[in-house]
Amino acid sequence: MRLLLLAPPGAGKGTQGDRLAARYGVRHIAAGDLLRAEAQAGGPLGAEIAACQARGDLVPDHVVLDVMTPAVVEAAAHGGYILDGFPRNLPQALAAAELAARLGVTLQAAVYLHAPDDVLTRRLLGRAGQGGRTDDTADVIRHRLQLFAETTGPLVPYYAERGILVEVNADQSPDAVTADIEAGLSKLSPAGDA
Ligand code: ADP
Repeated sequence: MRLLLLAPPGAGKGTQGDRLAARYGVRHIAAGDLLRAEAQAGGPLGAEIAACQARGDLVPDHVVLDVMTPAVVEAAAHGGYILDGFPRNLPQALAAAELAARLGVTLQAAVYLHAPDDVLTRRLLGRAGQGGRTDDTADVIRHRLQLFAETTGPLVPYYAERGILVEVNADQSPDAVTADIEAGLSKLSPAGDA
């Protein structure tokens, strides 16, 4: 299975990504996690990534691609991947398609998880209260949601045109979301690819 999760902050990409990876026996590759690890490793690049993440801005595309490419290549050789948080803009989507073509594979599904901004904000602020991430503050959350709408949102029609979009209401219990994803995937045409 080669699938990507397209979702605003707080929609449950991490939870659903873990479940889908277990279900299909493939790697869950979370761009935000890989970038946080790189930031922790320090150095000038680490500092630049940490600063972008703290502001809720996108990390530059070339940095994201340097971090994601080896993970995708490795996973593609082991049955596939669940991409979480990548691609996040059109140039990244084009780079991901190019990488897949180079590896001789196609993307089989793009799962779009959506929920109203007030629900997402409430979830993220709740997570912050439980010792969550430093970018889960009201101002940074607002910025991340706005960036999703402006920059990542256009990928929804991009993947719909390619016949591989599965749209799921994420304003439900995690189990209900997983069930809807499975139902959506089973309806996709096996010929769809991107
Ligand atoms: P969320 O979806 O809740 O914002 P993520 O862990 O996916 O959480 O992303 C956290 C941060 O990591 C983003 O705000 C951004 O700074 C950076 N990031 C993650 N994925 C990408 C990407 N594909 N391109 C650029 N920056 C990214």
